[in-house]
Amino acid sequence: MDTAPAPAFSVGLTGGIGCGKTTVADMFGALGASLVDTDAIAHALTAPHGAAMPAILGAFGADFASADGAMDRAKMRALVFSDPGARARLEAILHPRIREATAAAAAIATGPYTIFVVPLLIESGTWAGRVTRVLAIDCPEEMQVARVMARNGMAEEQVRAIMATQVTRAQRLAAADDVVVNDAGLAALRPQVERLHAFYLAESRRIAPDRGVK
Ligand code: ATP
Repeated sequence: MDTAPAPAFSVGLTGGIGCGKTTVADMFGALGASLVDTDAIAHALTAPHGAAMPAILGAFGADFASADGAMDRAKMRALVFSDPGARARLEAILHPRIREATAAAAAIATGPYTIFVVPLLIESGTWAGRVTRVLAIDCPEEMQVARVMARNGMAEEQVRAIMATQVTRAQRLAAADDVVVNDAGLAALRPQVERLHAFYLAESRRIAPDRGVK
């Protein structure tokens, strides 16, 4: 069904840094959901030969490219952290391209429903209205810090500085329709994901009965 329209039923999966968005999304993917990872899309746009690179270098200068031609992320992060105008210019370049690439990926998805992985879904203000359900991956803040320090070798203050730019746990939970609690091992995640997948499948079949039926 390569001409399948984007599914009527979609889920926006979000969560604070290190809460387990990728881990949980991969579990849904293994069960058959289509995944569209907006972070991966953003990364590809600023990779070597990425579609946003000419515009970024045009706006910020050639020294914002690293040796391989990708965006120099550390340099750009330092700039946009201290300069809101620069952040706005970067976002004006990236956001429409991310939207376009996200829509293109969703349009060719063939699963019974699509999960959009959007780290800043609540913060963005527009995403919640574009998906059927908002799913928050939740864990205690101390666990976020520990996981990101272990995974990226970042200092605690660096992780907390990123967390300070994101909505609070309470705000995210208040905005969510569904929640996966990721405060224990992977074994505790699976039943929650299976239960939600069954619910999403039932809802997607109710809305679009022919979709994903092989
Ligand atoms: P980011 O916001 O940085 O993209 P994320 O929300 O996608 O992170 P993951 O990458 O899925 O989070 O998880 C963060 C780290 O914690 C990873 O190293 C992952 O393997 C680990 N992790 C996540 N959930 C669990 C769990 N239930 N048990 C053990 N390790 C976990």
